[in-house]
This record gives sequence, structure tokens and C-alpha cells, in this order.
Amino acid sequence: IKNNNPFKKLNDEIFVYVARKQREIDELKRLEQFRREFLADVSHELKTPIFAAQGFIHTLIDGAVDDEKVRDKFLSKAAKSLDGLDALVKDLVALSQLETGEVKMSFGRVDLTHVTQEVFDQLESIAQAKKASLTIRTTQPGPVWVKADSQRITQVMTNLVENAVKYGNENGRVVVNLEEDKKHILVSIRDNGPGIPPEHLSRIFERFYRVEKSRSKDRGGTGLGLAIVKHILNAHKTKITVMSKVDKGTTFRFKLDRME
Ligand code: ADP
Repeated sequence: IKNNNPFKKLNDEIFVYVARKQREIDELKRLEQFRREFLADVSHELKTPIFAAQGFIHTLIDGAVDDEKVRDKFLSKAAKSLDGLDALVKDLVALSQLETGEVKMSFGRVDLTHVTQEVFDQLESIAQAKKASLTIRTTQPGPVWVKADSQRITQVMTNLVENAVKYGNENGRVVVNLEEDKKHILVSIRDNGPGIPPEHLSRIFERFYRVEKSRSKDRGGTGLGLAIVKHILNAHKTKITVMSKVDKGTTFRFKLDRME
């Protein structure tokens, strides 16, 4: 008898409609919350280097400028804060363009050994400062061709190798391994540094997420490096994974389409 109730169908439809609207409202709330948190994070991150630079400059104006030693020290500290600010703004722009899909990827045939070598050259001085060794391993000598956006994939390799050096140990070892299978090149970036505790692993690709806040900031990171890496690889329709063991080291892996 119940099933013949003419109101039952209407009732069901209303129920489905209300449930859908509720989901839409929840999604909007989630987005709003995300936007609010993002804005709070960005303002906080911007404030830090601005306050620091301001502090040094005002102290100089207030008289510290007369002492030559103090002057040089404070000027270089102010400059360092402003360099950090510059890097942060650049990374923010890059990330926001990647997130909104504003950047057009320009895919072509890219030699990953060449990219890696370029990245090693670029990071030579920070590697030397930590006495870290940078090694590339390939199955065969010669170029390793993949389909990629050359500039963006260079950015990915730079961020990952730089992190491996920055967070790695003194005298550490960083190895980039390029392995071939039928269709792909498997890329891994491995270090023998302090590793990342398991409870942090799933979060390191979030923007501004740092395992050790003060330590990472000292090392000049913007906290956006891995978020940028993730987005660039997304645009290459591939995913990055990370494996890490405390006191043993960390390995990041992803694969790219091979080209002949
Ligand atoms: P940051 O600008 O702080 O380096 P990233 O997004 O590049 O930001 O990295 C996020 C955090 O992940 C870092 O602050 C650091 O704590 C951790 N991390 C990244 N790579 C490594 C690594 N190779 N070894 C240990 N910790 C790492």
C-alpha cells in the first residue's frame, strides 16, 4: 500500500535534491575555508621577510650605520631577507599560474641527462658548501629522451636536487637515477640524509608545509618547492611518490613518457 503512495516519488525526489544541494554547500564552504587559510598563510609568509628587512634597515637608520662591521652585517641580512621575499613572490606566481591552468605547457623532446647535468652545475656551489656529492646514473651512456616541457622539468629537478642537498647531511650523497622501461623513463632522486618522519610524509607536497619550520626557513626555502613539483608533474599527467626512512634518507620518484 505504501508503495502506491503518490507522494512517495515526490518525497524521494525532494530528498535527492536536498542532498545534492547540501553537497554543493559543503563544497563551497570547503573552498571558502581553503581560500581563507591560503590568504592567512600567504600574508604570514610575506610578513616574515618584510619585518626582518624593516628591522635591519631601521636599526641602521637609528645609528648602527656608523659602526662599519654592524653596517655590513645588517645590510647583508636585509638583502638576504629581500632575496627570500623575491623567491617567495616568484614561487607564488608560478604556483598560482599552475593551479589555475594559466601556463601553457610546451611539450617537446627533452634529454634528461642534459637537464640533470645543468641542474648539478647550477647547484654546484651549495653542494660544495655542504661537501655533498652529486651523481647521475643511467642504464646506458648518452642522452635519455622524454616527452616534457623542458623549462618546467628543469624546475622539478632543481627543486628536488636542491632539497636533497639542503636537507641532506654534510658529506651527503645525492643520486639521480634514470631507468628505462618500454614506454617510460623512471626518474628517482635519492639522498642519504636524515629522512622525513612518516607522520609528515603525506603532507610535504602541501604549500607552506615544512617538517621543521625553523630549520627549513634557515635554509632559505619558500615552502612551495614540492607543491610546484607536484603541479608540474600533474600537468605531465604523472605523479610523484616519496619514500623515506628516518636516519637513512629520502627518495622521490616519478616517470615520464619515453621518446626515441
Ligand atoms: P622548502 O622551501 O621548505 O624546502 P619544499 O616544499 O621544497 O619547501 O619542501 C617541504 C618540506 O619537506 C621541507 O621544508 C623539508 O622539511 C621537507 N623535505 C623536502 N625534501 C626533503 C629531503 N630530501 N629530505 C628531508 N626533508 C625534506
